[in-house]
Amino acid sequence: MALNFIHNRPRRSASGQTLPVIDPADGQPYDSIERSNAADVDAAVQAARRCLEGPWARLTAAERGRLLMKLSAKVAEHADELAAVEQRDCGKPTKQAKADALALVRYFEFYAGAGDKLHGHTIPYLDGYSVLTWHEPHGVTGHVIPWNYPMQIFGRSVGGALAAGNVCVVKPSEDACLSLLRVAELAAEVGFPAGAINIVTGYGHEVGDALARHPGIDHISFTGSPRVGTLIQQAAAERHCPVTLELGGKGPQIVFDDADVDAALPFILNAIVQNSGQTCSAGSRLLVQRQLYEPLLQRLGEAFKGLRAGPPGMDLDLGPLIRETQQQRVRGFLDELKRDGLPIVAQGQIDPAADAKGYYAAPTLVRDVPPQHRLAQEEVFGPVLAAMAFDDEDEAVRLANGTSFGLVAGVWTRDGGRQLRMARRVKAGQVFINNYGAGGGVELPFGGVKSSGYGREKGFEALLGFTTLKTVAIRHG
Ligand code: NAD
Repeated sequence: MALNFIHNRPRRSASGQTLPVIDPADGQPYDSIERSNAADVDAAVQAARRCLEGPWARLTAAERGRLLMKLSAKVAEHADELAAVEQRDCGKPTKQAKADALALVRYFEFYAGAGDKLHGHTIPYLDGYSVLTWHEPHGVTGHVIPWNYPMQIFGRSVGGALAAGNVCVVKPSEDACLSLLRVAELAAEVGFPAGAINIVTGYGHEVGDALARHPGIDHISFTGSPRVGTLIQQAAAERHCPVTLELGGKGPQIVFDDADVDAALPFILNAIVQNSGQTCSAGSRLLVQRQLYEPLLQRLGEAFKGLRAGPPGMDLDLGPLIRETQQQRVRGFLDELKRDGLPIVAQGQIDPAADAKGYYAAPTLVRDVPPQHRLAQEEVFGPVLAAMAFDDEDEAVRLANGTSFGLVAGVWTRDGGRQLRMARRVKAGQVFINNYGAGGGVELPFGGVKSSGYGREKGFEALLGFTTLKTVAIRHG
C-alpha cells in the first residue's frame, strides 16, 4: 500500500480511498496508491510553504547543490531497486528501466552543480545608479508528471526546480507513482528538509486540477498531453500563474538520398521502439527521399520483423503498453489504417511468453501514409511508424512542419549545407543531424514549439524557467 509523501512522512489521503496499481504485463492489480483530493493538495502546499519560508530559506545555493548531489548518490545506490519498481509499474524492459534510473542520477548530479551558477547581471544605467538583476525562485512549484518516464521527468523537473531554490509539490500519473514515492523517501533520508519534496497521488481531474488551481502554487511544470496542457493553462490563467508545458510530438525522421543508411537504421528503429513508442519525442514519421524510399523500407521492414515485444523481465525490444486504454488506442489506429487500405510493410512479434491479458502491441511499419491522415498527424503513443516519400528539400520541410507539433526532428544527410538549412527550416525545439535523441541529453535544452508546448526543461536553460528575474536599481548619488 503506497501512501502520499507529505512533509517527509507517508500520509493517508483525506478521502481514505485508494486506486489499484495494475501490472501492465498481466493486467492484474498488485498494490494500491492513495486517491487524493484537493484537501491533500492543500496539505502538501502548506508543508511546502512552511519549508520555503523556514529551513529551505536558510540554505545557500551551494548547500542545496550538496543536498542534490547526496540524493544523486543515494539514487545511484538504489538504482536497481528503483528500476525494478518502475519496471513493474510501467512495463519497461530491464535495460530501459535501468537507463531511466541512471538518468535520474544524472539529472540530480547536473542540477546539483548548476544551481550556484545562476548569475545575474549588472546593467550600465544613469549616472549615480547601480542596477543588478537576480534570478529568484518562484517559490512553491507544482509538477504534473506523466507515466511514460516518471523518474526521468521527475529528475529534470524537480531537480531543476530545487536547484533554483524552489520547493515542490508533485502529482505523478495515477498509472506510475511508485518509483517517485520511493525517491521522495530517499530525499528525506539524505537530509532534504520536510516539505521540500511532497508527492500527492490520484486522478488528474482531482489532484492535478486542484494543484493547477491552488493559489499557493507559484509555477506549474506540466508534461503530458496537449488536451490536459490546455486545461492546466486555463486553470493557471485564472491567477496568472506561470506554466511550462512539455506536450506531445510527431517527430519526423527525414532521410535524404545521400544519408549513411547503415548509421541511420538503428536510430530510426530505436526512436519508435524505445519505451514501446510511448515517448513524446518518438520518431514516429519517416520521411524518405524518393530514390531511397524502396531500399530503405525493405531494410527497415526486415528489421521490424525481427522485433519482439514481451514480458519486461525478458528484456526484449518492447514491453507492454502502460494500460488497457493505451492498447485500445493503438489498436484503433491499426484498424483505421486497415480500413483506409494503408500498406503495412512489416510487423514485429509478440513473444509467446507474454500473458494474453498484458497490454502488448506489435511494432508496425506502415508506408505511403498520406500527410493529412490521422496516422501522420496525431500521436499514436505506441510503436507505429508512418513512412512517406518526398522529392526535394522543400517538400521535406513542408511535410516535416505539416503537423500541429514541433518537438524533435531528425535529419539524415552527408551534405553539410543541407544539414544547416534543414536545421534552420524545421520547426522543432530540437533538431538532430545524423543522430536522434543524442543519448538522452540531460544537458540539452528540451521542449517544443506550436502544440508541443513552450518553455524548456533539461540543460541549464531549464533553471531560468524555474526562476523569475528581479531588477534592483540603487540610486547612490
Ligand atoms: P495526460 O495528459 O493524460 O496526463 C499527464 C498528467 O496530467 C498525469 O499526471 C495526469 O494525471 C494529469 N492530468 C490528467 N488530467 C488532468 C487535469 N484535468 N488537470 C490536471 N492534471 C491532469 O498524459 P499521459 O497519458 O499521462 O501521457 C501521454 C501524453 O504526454 C502524450 O501526449 C505525450 O506526448 C505527452 N508527453 C510529453 C512529454 C514531453 O516532454 N513533451 C513527455 C512525456 C509525455
